[in-house]
Amino acid sequence: MIQLEYRKKPLPLDKALNGTTLLLTGSVIDSINCLLPRRVERDLHENVLYIAGVIEPTRRIGLFVIAPKAETGRGYYHTDRASHAEVLNVLDEHDLAIVAQVHCHPGELVYHSEADDDLAFVRVEGHWSIVVPHYGLKGMFPLDRCGFHRFQNGTFALLTKEAVAKRIKVIAPSIRLTEV
Ligand SMILES: [Zn+2]
Repeated sequence: MIQLEYRKKPLPLDKALNGTTLLLTGSVIDSINCLLPRRVERDLHENVLYIAGVIEPTRRIGLFVIAPKAETGRGYYHTDRASHAEVLNVLDEHDLAIVAQVHCHPGELVYHSEADDDLAFVRVEGHWSIVVPHYGLKGMFPLDRCGFHRFQNGTFALLTKEAVAKRIKVIAPSIRLTEV
């Protein structure tokens, strides 16, 4: 558990090294790095994205990124039912599911707030929620600077750095086994 000033309830930790995994393609990471930072006039805003892909019993595979319509500000984002309906239409078209959501925080703290827990679009067992620091401006690497939360036992739990190293995997665009 982590006790944080901005939460009344402590944030549970997920220390499992062999729990379910999340696979992301390099292009998903590139898309997040490109789409997450949101500047409105001169202000940076928090922003939200969804990762669509395939859900298997022991892993989730992210294939592409959806940028939903959202109301955003320096310290919050909000999506409404109309925005959710549009996202569900895209998922239906591709016969895919949301495997994770991603949002950014202003500073380096990447722990879920209680509002993050309560307002998550998807709150089902196994759903991932990733928080990227510094409004997403510095990108997702190294991955352990981001907060990877997994919904389990009715609440979001934060993966430890050791668990992130074992369970969050990025797939290279190609792996060459031939001689040059
Ligand atoms: Zn947040």
